Amino acid sequence: MYPSNRTIDEWLVTLNKRILVAIALLFLISGCTQLSVISDDSPGPSNTTGSAADQQQVSGAVRPSDPDAGLPGENQSRDITVAVTEKEGSELATILRDESSVLPARDSYDWESTTAKVSPRSDIENETQQRSVLALCTEIGNKLGSVSVADCLAQNLVFGGAFTVQSRPIVIKDFLPEGDASEKPRILIMGGIHGDEYSSISIMFKWMALLADSNNKDFHWRFAPTVNPDGLLDGQAIRQNANGVDLNRNFPSDDWQDLAQYYWKNTTSGNPRRFPGDFPASEPEVQWVVEQINTFKPDVIVSVHAPYHLLDYDGPPEPPQKIGELHLHLLGVYPGSLGNYAGINLGIPVITMELPSAGIMPNNDQILKMWNDLLEWLYEHHES
Ligand SMILES: [Zn+2]
Repeated sequence: MYPSNRTIDEWLVTLNKRILVAIALLFLISGCTQLSVISDDSPGPSNTTGSAADQQQVSGAVRPSDPDAGLPGENQSRDITVAVTEKEGSELATILRDESSVLPARDSYDWESTTAKVSPRSDIENETQQRSVLALCTEIGNKLGSVSVADCLAQNLVFGGAFTVQSRPIVIKDFLPEGDASEKPRILIMGGIHGDEYSSISIMFKWMALLADSNNKDFHWRFAPTVNPDGLLDGQAIRQNANGVDLNRNFPSDDWQDLAQYYWKNTTSGNPRRFPGDFPASEPEVQWVVEQINTFKPDVIVSVHAPYHLLDYDGPPEPPQKIGELHLHLLGVYPGSLGNYAGINLGIPVITMELPSAGIMPNNDQILKMWNDLLEWLYEHHES
């Protein structure tokens, strides 16, 4: 028996796909290698050979079109020249996303594991998920002025168990406590629920780096630095997800059915930036957060936003009065917000930090001060 033409065609398609993925990996590996050898004060060597406009170097230095730039007191990493072009990054991301989109999201994740390790059904699935995380870091590093591809890769983020509307992975990093993790308070900390709030994502990477350098082992931290990567990365950044839904109005709060659509139409005059979705928890990103709440069972949730320059709080009493320069100023309750759902309905303390600017990071002193104030409040109210 000879293989049919159809079989040969399929075989050729598979072969082409594998070659594409191999090329993509080569791109990535060459990018990482470059990153590791370029020192902060080097003049920014280039590995590009073409002269086309799309071969323009992406630099961690200030870019006029990037609102997350021009930060006072920024660290040296901003001056590293990233040797991955924007075109390479987005091509790689597209190839890897297309591959990962065919995989099931949920049941491959071992929710019981305190180390948040992926427990895949096959090595191929595991590898694909990890490559989708690498592709995400390439996109993030090329988008944010304060987080380079190397900064992102350095965190060893892992697949968090779900993909977004555009099949990007929602990624996490766990920092385990000393001793029996089940006896220590669990803190779920999230950035970028609104995709155009750049600083809320960048600050996650600063705090993860701080935590990695510290000896703090008293809490089980779960970082989700970018809950809405499609909003950040699909062209110009937007608040909503790829379905045009404001994720912070899509949580299944008790009042969603009665009030979410009504509030949107009447109070916001149908502002598309506040669209709560067609039904509660309609969006995969919100479903993921709800699942985190059900399985990780956080004792405290921290959600970072911008740019209202204040501290909001929902849930059981004794909110912090201030965190860094953010002072407590209760904003009230919105149908479908995380604070409403998790804080008021479920009784989990929800700290909402609104940074002063979506595009300009707090300086390093403030980043540290906010972290220390948060820790102090946690020790006061939630130490086991
Ligand atoms: Zn926001």
